[in-house]
Amino acid sequence: MSDQLTRRGILAFGAAAGLSATALAGSAHAQTTPKPTFLPLPLESKPRPVPPEGYILDRVGDAMYVVTAGGNQTPFVVTRIGVVLIDAPPSLANFLPAAIRRVTNKRVTHIIYSHSHADHIAGAAAFGNVFRIAHEETAQTMRIARDPNRPMPTTTFRDRYHLNVGGERFELSYPGNNHGRQCARNPYRARPTGQAAHRDVRRRAHPPARHPA
Ligand SMILES: [Zn+2]
Repeated sequence: MSDQLTRRGILAFGAAAGLSATALAGSAHAQTTPKPTFLPLPLESKPRPVPPEGYILDRVGDAMYVVTAGGNQTPFVVTRIGVVLIDAPPSLANFLPAAIRRVTNKRVTHIIYSHSHADHIAGAAAFGNVFRIAHEETAQTMRIARDPNRPMPTTTFRDRYHLNVGGERFELSYPGNNHGRQCARNPYRARPTGQAAHRDVRRRAHPPARHPA
């Protein structure tokens, strides 16, 4: 090709050489399509540095703390008589006892199961024979799973359950089917400061996902 070839000349050459119109159009398209631009991520969405102990411990109320590690987190509440865990994820099994010891020498006396999924509660057996509360359908699913790492609840509820432990009050409610039929519990601590713990609650805009047993 001559250095003096015009764009029209190039197109004519392409046609003569048997190049597809699509390929040529695609090339022209790539040259003219503006690059997409994105808004910057908000600062709070960026990962936080993990301290040497391997987990992050946050205090989120008078008596509630949250342990975070490896993309998972779970709250616990220190009462006058013991510690109430909301779920016991196996991924935090090595960190929860150490995190609790940093703020109290009381032992775990209660575990609230938000739902039956193993990634949330298969660390429960490590806490021994504590009082465990779950929705009745959570218990039903666990009965079928027969997982020794997920000990059965001590008691179950259907619509609402109020748990009073050492001066702290927890309100558990079941608003209906959500993250799988058996798991839509929202353990909700009503007093004194009203923190809410929503676990795996799905909203309309969430993409579809498979539910593990
Ligand atoms: Zn789940």
